[in-house]
Amino acid sequence: MSWLAGKSKDERWRIGAAVASLVTLVGIALFFDNSVYRPPSRPLRIGIWQGPPMEIIHADGTVAGLGPDVINEAARRLGIKLRWVNPSEGPEELLPTGKLDLWGNLSVTPRRRGLFFLTAAWSENVYGLVSLSPARSAPPNVIGAINSPVAIYMSRRVRPYAKVKTYQDRDHLFDGLCLGEVQYFITDQRSMVQHALSRTPACREASFAVTFLPETRLEIATGAAPGQEIHAQALRREIDRMALDGTLNRISSRYAIGLGNTDWMLQLAAAERRQQLLQAGIGLAALLLILTGWQVHRVRAARHQAETALKEAERANAAKSEFLATMSHEIRTPMNGVIGMTNLLLDTQLDQEQRDFGETIRGSAGSLLAIIDDILDFSKIQSGALELDAVAFCPLELSTNVLRTLGPIVAPKKLALSLHPDNAQITDVWVRGDPARLRQVLMNLIGNAIKFTENGAVTVRWEIQAQDAQQVRFLVTVQDSGVGIAPDKLHLVFERFRQADASTTRKFGGTGLGLAISKLLVEAMQGTIGVRSEEGVGSAFWFTLSLPIAKEPAVAAVVSSRTGPIEFALAPLVLIVEDNAVNRKVAQHTFTRLGCQVELAENGFEALARFESRPYDLIFMDCLMPEMDGYAATVEIRHRERNSTGHRRRTPIIAMTASVLDEERRRCMECGMDDFVAKPWQPTDIRRVIERWYQSPVCSITAKT
Ligand code: ADP
Repeated sequence: MSWLAGKSKDERWRIGAAVASLVTLVGIALFFDNSVYRPPSRPLRIGIWQGPPMEIIHADGTVAGLGPDVINEAARRLGIKLRWVNPSEGPEELLPTGKLDLWGNLSVTPRRRGLFFLTAAWSENVYGLVSLSPARSAPPNVIGAINSPVAIYMSRRVRPYAKVKTYQDRDHLFDGLCLGEVQYFITDQRSMVQHALSRTPACREASFAVTFLPETRLEIATGAAPGQEIHAQALRREIDRMALDGTLNRISSRYAIGLGNTDWMLQLAAAERRQQLLQAGIGLAALLLILTGWQVHRVRAARHQAETALKEAERANAAKSEFLATMSHEIRTPMNGVIGMTNLLLDTQLDQEQRDFGETIRGSAGSLLAIIDDILDFSKIQSGALELDAVAFCPLELSTNVLRTLGPIVAPKKLALSLHPDNAQITDVWVRGDPARLRQVLMNLIGNAIKFTENGAVTVRWEIQAQDAQQVRFLVTVQDSGVGIAPDKLHLVFERFRQADASTTRKFGGTGLGLAISKLLVEAMQGTIGVRSEEGVGSAFWFTLSLPIAKEPAVAAVVSSRTGPIEFALAPLVLIVEDNAVNRKVAQHTFTRLGCQVELAENGFEALARFESRPYDLIFMDCLMPEMDGYAATVEIRHRERNSTGHRRRTPIIAMTASVLDEERRRCMECGMDDFVAKPWQPTDIRRVIERWYQSPVCSITAKT
């Protein structure tokens, strides 16, 4: 078994299970093999000795007697042909050598059991001590027996210290007793009866005293030569069946002496069968137990493996997140230098090409910084370092602000952006949570919706799924009518750095982190996030949010509670090109107060660079400026608009000039400008022009009544 020690636990289990299966299968096979018996094709040679009434051999060689009758009947029923042989040698010599196949009925002694196969007993013989009554004088301590191994064996068993005097047959044995040669002898019950029927001359007048000794009961069974055990067993089982159906009783009643008390033996046979069944059952149970144990072991091992792998993966993930965070931080520091120095550079005197290059550096650096910010954020959330605020805020007000912020990117598209509170009362709900993180999720989802949609609508829907005094559960859906996502890519979009379509990345940019971050955030807020989408039709990204209800602060509520649609104009994004610093300041101030988002440029070159970086709703252009004046800049802008590959919208350009001459006005129009405000202008002039040239995309809050 030492080789087992070298095996792994799993292998040992397997070997154990294999052995158990084998044992069980062999058991089952044996069981069935026993039940389906096939008799041999040749006659079996079966030994018999004269021994009435159990064994009678007629002069013509035919046999009778209780033993042969039982065996013959069993053989007939099984289809076994028997050839009875009356040899001079005994079973001890003939069976082990295979000179005979069977011996019909044999007293069972330990020696015989050691020499050849014996079936379970099917009959018995009781022995007794026979003496004369009244006793005659005889040599003490001498016991008589016929010269047979069984008689000698029995004599020694009952009188271990006596001398055994043997006689050639039963008649001589009786004579020996009657003539006073022995004090007693041992014989079996059947021989006694036989003798009573045919007394020898010496014993004619004698009367006998017989003491039956219960402990001398000897079992009678069928013996078999090696290889013939199966036939002996089959005969034995058939005798069993004969006992059950009454045949045995019928045979036994033909003779004065029966088979003895066979009940227990037949029960033994039945018990043997039960035991076989039990063994098969135990084998099966053991097999099942081992298989179950093995399975449990395998499941445990697999679980252990999975847990280890998970821990390993978590460790690796944490290490990776930490690495990313460190890297991002390390990159951020020099990036600050790059952006800062580029800004400083752009404030110096540059020619157009240099300015272009500088602007490109600033734009690229900005994008890189955004990516790094995303990575940092993702690593931070994933490493579990995210701590959520719990402050009171109005989710709908938050959504309105997000929409207002994203307004400028909707402006160049034919997109309706709207907010649909499912229920008027949502506008009043205040909750406790982390508005900055919720804003981030909304920015990502709405930003994506706008990014991937050219025409149609982007709708943000707020529904209350459940509400009680303490808690409210929202379902927020951002629905768009954009490019949609292919079904086989749908499950990928929430994975980090995964994008549904590589071509969209080229077209729209992005890192593939926005949704991964949103998922982490929503889950950190105990919500779930998901998406439905159809290619070419649009997508609906949704998330749930359970937040505790907060008291609305006394001074608050930007979005008033009402049931009609809440509409607001998105602030136009305006580029003011003005070389004079004071005028720039005045313009910035005025435009901002009018609700515009303002960006500034100092000359035509700068205006062109800004124009390239993002779309503006309106451009207010000073005409006379150093380096590149407003006319040249307008001509260039119109040129770029015409030649752009994407269908660029025509940006309204409004001249701001101190000259009020018609000629000046004409010149402006010829360059491609659209309108004209004379300096010094009043805020009302500006408002009028904005209203004329800027149509806010529809942005409304519609509450269902
Ligand atoms: P990205 O920075 O690339 O937008 P996200 O994680 O926000 O990263 O989105 C991952 C990918 O999911 C996008 O690249 C895009 O392919 C797809 N996607 C996200 N939102 C939409 C949408 N509204 N319509 C179509 N595709 C979308």
